Amino acid sequence: MEFVAAHDLDEALAAKAQRPEAVFLAGGTDLMVEVNLAHHRPASVVSLRRVADLRDASPNRIGAGVTWARLERGPHRGLAQAARTVGSPQIRAAGTIGGNIGTASPAGDGLPWIAAADASIEARSAARGTRVIPWNEFFIGVKRTSLLSDEIVTAVIVPDGLPEHQEFAKVGVRNAMVISTVSCLVIRGDDGFRVALGSVAPTPIRASRAEEMINAESSITAAALDEFARIVSQEVKPISDHRSTEAYRRHAAGVLARRLVERSSR
Ligand SMILES: Cc1cc2nc3c(=O)[nH]c(=O)nc-3n(C[C@H](O)[C@H](O)[C@H](O)COP(=O)(O)OP(=O)(O)OC[C@H]3O[C@@H](n4cnc5c(N)ncnc54)[C@H](O)[C@@H]3O)c2cc1C
Repeated sequence: MEFVAAHDLDEALAAKAQRPEAVFLAGGTDLMVEVNLAHHRPASVVSLRRVADLRDASPNRIGAGVTWARLERGPHRGLAQAARTVGSPQIRAAGTIGGNIGTASPAGDGLPWIAAADASIEARSAARGTRVIPWNEFFIGVKRTSLLSDEIVTAVIVPDGLPEHQEFAKVGVRNAMVISTVSCLVIRGDDGFRVALGSVAPTPIRASRAEEMINAESSITAAALDEFARIVSQEVKPISDHRSTEAYRRHAAGVLARRLVERSSR
């Protein structure tokens, strides 16, 4: 296995342009699991750990190399809540938002926030420079993205004026060190509620029909919340796998979304 330690973004992009089959290594908390289990034997690895440009963060632009440990203390409440649930302190010290995006697992805990925030993914290549891809065009399937073979994810672009009322929660088999069975992120703004879910479809999704329903209500009554939860449960597209059944995921998605709408209404 060839190993290239890039010192800056240009070096990383040049290395990738020369080796389209190379994989990037950020924190390694997903990639090294694959390598150690012999699921993946990349011929070349380009390490991003020394690329300082990727670690820049501001409220509107979160560098791909920003770790969960930093996001825990960041300005976006929902993303900070999600960050606190990722793995263990060791995983959060190494794992990055860019790695979560690169893996594009339906269970990635950063992805519902990206969907609810209507954020975009900034990508760069040596040949074509920078492009910005809306989240719902970036995530295209289970562990599949629209990133091209010569591109790197450089940042998450966050729209201006993101409301502060943000709530994240996830359901799993334990309280800590657990991959989401279902996750949910609710943002409440002047335009109403935005509801995003993870682990219930091939990609993170927005519960658009449920959003429309609850945002048309003049007050959030118990009956409205019941109906809202029912629509969320209908709208998700989960599968049964080793973590859960389809039926449980549908149920949990409704319960979780309802709970977060109630919590963010207080
Ligand atoms: C014990 C354990 C617990 C975990 N718990 C959770 C959890 O609770 N929630 C959760 O969401 N995840 C969890 N994970 C998964 C993992 O920690 C996260 O997905 C993390 O964000 C991955 O980031 P990383 O920097 O380590 O990525 P890496 O492993 O370095 O990379 C992951 C993938 O992304 C690609 N990549 C990395 N950076 C870029 C970039 N800038 N541009 C393009 N591609 C890139 C890599 O090539 C690779 O394909 C856990 C993992 C472990 C081992």
